[in-house]
Amino acid sequence: MLIEKQTELYSGKAKTVYMTNDPTRLILYFRDDTSAFDGRKIEQFTRKGEINNKFNAFIMEKLAAIGIPTHLERLLSAQESLVKRLKMFPIECVVRNIATGSLCRRLGVQEGMDLNPPVFEFFLKNDALHDPMINEYHIRTFHWAPIDQVEQMKEYTFRINDVLKQLFLEANLLLVDYKLEFGDFQGQLVLGDEFTLDGCRLWDVETRKKLDKDRFRQGLGGLIEAYEEVAQRLGASL
Ligand code: 5GP
Repeated sequence: MLIEKQTELYSGKAKTVYMTNDPTRLILYFRDDTSAFDGRKIEQFTRKGEINNKFNAFIMEKLAAIGIPTHLERLLSAQESLVKRLKMFPIECVVRNIATGSLCRRLGVQEGMDLNPPVFEFFLKNDALHDPMINEYHIRTFHWAPIDQVEQMKEYTFRINDVLKQLFLEANLLLVDYKLEFGDFQGQLVLGDEFTLDGCRLWDVETRKKLDKDRFRQGLGGLIEAYEEVAQRLGASL
């Protein structure tokens, strides 16, 4: 079927989602916007949308190749991808290999400490509440996702950690932490949203230079240059 873009369904902080003539498919449009602190800091960067769209496709294809079901169908243009329409769960799955960010603020643990075994955390997707941390009892009681799919989410998230940690290490990068979002597609758990440098942390192995959205969050500059460097090290074409 020839896919046609229709009305806007939803506009998030960095992507706009469009309906299509196929009710089971959506178009993601990666904008040049970068946001932080629940949308209180926003800036546009030329090429950001294109870089994220292509980087996301590169990673999603790697994950599909190891048997993780993902929503990505194909790239449509520089800033657009065609995806399956999932019923998204309002939860974020975070895995941490090195302590930083909210973990250090919440628990007072030392920044940069290796986490072995890695830490897994669930957060509720809710900007007004600043994405509070939740556990499986909350998910069960408030019916945010079926419990068998919650088990599967954890399994996929850890499998993704093993694969991506290695992929990034080969590019001399440490996968510090990352966030994933899942949804249901016709009864199957499927990875949705995106895997980009907006939603993970990557540090250079030797210098521990930050090559992710923390450059924007912390006002370090060189965001696009960092994203391009990561893509180049991985051999991902942008
Ligand atoms: P932290 O809890 O330390 O702020 O974030 C942990 C990891 O999850 C980081 O890699 C961060 O980029 C990602 N993350 C957590 N919440 C969000 C979110 O709402 N949006 C995005 N893009 N990434 C998030």
